[in-house]
Amino acid sequence: VKHERFELLLDPETSARLARIRQTGTKPEQEVRKVLAAVGLRYRLNNRDLQGSPDIANRRSRWAIFVHGCFWHRHQRCKRTTTPKRNREFWEAKFRANQHRDERAVESLTKEGFRVAVIWECETPRTDVVLQRVRDAGII
Ligand SMILES: [Zn+2]
Repeated sequence: VKHERFELLLDPETSARLARIRQTGTKPEQEVRKVLAAVGLRYRLNNRDLQGSPDIANRRSRWAIFVHGCFWHRHQRCKRTTTPKRNREFWEAKFRANQHRDERAVESLTKEGFRVAVIWECETPRTDVVLQRVRDAGII
């Protein structure tokens, strides 16, 4: 939703593609939440009081999870990480800013003693991968 204003600059094809991406935007988060519930983790959503507003977090237990859309957050070597041909410079700047913000968020949270996991949208259908990410971060 927060990216909506950029659509005005887009050609119809790109616009349609983004609309599809956003439609499924909450689905990846739901997949992750299912896994967390299955292992008995409690959490809050949209943690605006924490750096980078992690999608899922537990402040008291000091862990945070970002569920990143591959396109917006630039998942490396992922086929969803395309760059629109029009307004290329604009997009590249936008993506760089996103990546910067993501890095800062992880750094800052880690400094505050949070265990942080980043889970990519394309990974969320795989329960085993989600679980592994959560384990690797030391959340469980
Ligand atoms: Zn991906």
